Amino acid sequence: MVLILMGPPGCGKGTQSKMLEEHYGLPQLATGDMLREAVKNGTEVGRRAKEYMDRGALGPDDLIIEVMRERMGRKDCADGFILDGFPRTPAQAEALGGLLKELGKNITAVVNLDVADEEVVRRLAGRRACLSCGATYHIAFSPPKAEGRCDKCGAKLVQRSDDNEGTIRERLSVYRAQTAPLISLYGKQGALRNVEGTGSIKGIFEKICSLIDKEMRQ
Ligand code: ADP
Ligand code: ADP
Ligand code: ZN
Repeated sequence: MVLILMGPPGCGKGTQSKMLEEHYGLPQLATGDMLREAVKNGTEVGRRAKEYMDRGALGPDDLIIEVMRERMGRKDCADGFILDGFPRTPAQAEALGGLLKELGKNITAVVNLDVADEEVVRRLAGRRACLSCGATYHIAFSPPKAEGRCDKCGAKLVQRSDDNEGTIRERLSVYRAQTAPLISLYGKQGALRNVEGTGSIKGIFEKICSLIDKEMRQ
């Protein structure tokens, strides 16, 4: 099974794909988490990606595609995976098509989470992230049990440096210009499934699971 979670920054891709990872037992491949890890470890990939991430721009396609090619080839991806934050450009979508062909896999569904801009700003401004396990929280909408600590691994929660209003607006305009065109592309391929991204986290999760289960029965 290959799932793609799409939608603007803050639509809930990370939150939902973590839950889907647990529910279906497939790895979540979150490009942003992988890049932040690379930045933290001071690798060549991290060094190249950092300047783009800091200003809310997308990293270079060739770099991102190479990182994902390597990741999808690992053993834990044999039964499939959940893509969170990839592809984000038409070139990445095309490369993904080629990679899946090599792996003998098809896209099961592209779940597009629809959330209005003002809600995105509210969500990202209050987001707190665990840089250790990738879990995300919101100070009002989805708070951790103990303030400032990750429920899952106990690590300290941080506010991402790109979750400030200026960079959030920039990421939204980058999304509209470079990523939103993929919605019609996957629509034409018949893989697109639109899901209303506003409402309870659990309610949205149940909607996604029911459409995946329907897809798997066919
Ligand atoms: P993305 O990975 O798409 O950027 P996240 O999953 O990190 O989005 O969610 C962004 C923020 O919004 C986080 O603080 C998260 O806790 C919160 N959030 C996620 N889903 C919902 C929801 N359905 N309602 C309210 N807040 C949400
Ligand atoms: P969000 O949760 O707000 O959607 P991510 O954590 O997915 O953000 O990504 C954070 C940053 O990492 C992006 O603003 C971009 O700089 C970089 N990035 C993540 N995924 C990609 C991608 N597929 N292509 C290019 N850059 C990416
Ligand atoms: Zn954690």
